[in-house]
Amino acid sequence: MDCPVCHNPMIVLELEMVEIDNCTSCGGIWLDSGELEQLFGDENKANLLIDSFNPARDVKENMHSCPICLKKMEKIRTSESADAVIIDRCAKHHGLWFDKNELHHLLVTNTLDKEHRIVKLLSEIFAKDNEVRND
Ligand SMILES: [Zn+2]
Ligand SMILES: [Zn+2]
Repeated sequence: MDCPVCHNPMIVLELEMVEIDNCTSCGGIWLDSGELEQLFGDENKANLLIDSFNPARDVKENMHSCPICLKKMEKIRTSESADAVIIDRCAKHHGLWFDKNELHHLLVTNTLDKEHRIVKLLSEIFAKDNEVRND
């Protein structure tokens, strides 16, 4: 599957038995529908979170295409607070696209506590991303 932003092939990361697609060029993450639920390990919690998302109509961000159906995705605001992140969602519910650090931000600023295993794993991934690369 290709990155919706820079169109490079994404790599598959395994996070707590859930496979997520990660672009090593821009640091974005694609979650198929259902994978967020698996990440939370709790369908109700994941649904509550997804239900709290609202369409973001006043956004100037570039539109991206769903990597599965190639249709333009819609912009979604993760909350009404000032530190909300804007993510992309396929209108056909194929999945969600998070730009670099947005998934981590979302998990940290929502009901999950910071010691949650997923938050820790994501922190590790992004800590690696943020290191200066010598290769
Ligand atoms: Zn990319
Ligand atoms: Zn789609």
